[in-house]
Amino acid sequence: MNFDVVVIGGGPGGYIAAIRSSQLGLKTACIDATKRNGVYSLGGTCLNVGCIPSKALLQSSENYAQLHHDFAQHGITCSDIKLDLNKMQERKDISRRRRARYLV
Ligand SMILES: Cc1cc2nc3c(=O)[nH]c(=O)nc-3n(C[C@H](O)[C@H](O)[C@H](O)COP(=O)(O)OP(=O)(O)OC[C@H]3O[C@@H](n4cnc5c(N)ncnc54)[C@H](O)[C@@H]3O)c2cc1C
Repeated sequence: MNFDVVVIGGGPGGYIAAIRSSQLGLKTACIDATKRNGVYSLGGTCLNVGCIPSKALLQSSENYAQLHHDFAQHGITCSDIKLDLNKMQERKDISRRRRARYLV
């Protein structure tokens, strides 16, 4: 296979460069060594372990904290609040996988 441009690294720096190169009409490949659960995964640090997963967990933590500390002043109370860390991690992984699909 021949390419005009080969971008090494599929993080935000790499995939943006590859998309732009392709938009300019150059035959472009973008390659990345990262594997998640045995499968190659574009997106770099940001998508795989950084921005996206951390914000998914941050939102879950914020919801939990609000339930504990803030909702009562709105007149909303509940008892027996439980934290399911596995479920939280699962949601984070789904959120990552959903975005990864757009890069393939
Ligand atoms: C926990 C955390 C949270 C973050 N949150 C934010 C945020 O909210 N907002 C924000 O703007 N930034 C955030 N960042 C920073 C953001 O992730 C980085 O700035 C961004 O990922 C850098 O992009 P990059 O393309 O330069 O490098 P990377 O995302 O690191 O991508 C480089 C890719 O190149 C691949 N690679 C390297 N060498 C080779 C090789 N020889 N062959 C094949 N592949 C190779 C690597 O495997 C990697 O996938 C966060 C980072 C972390 C760790």
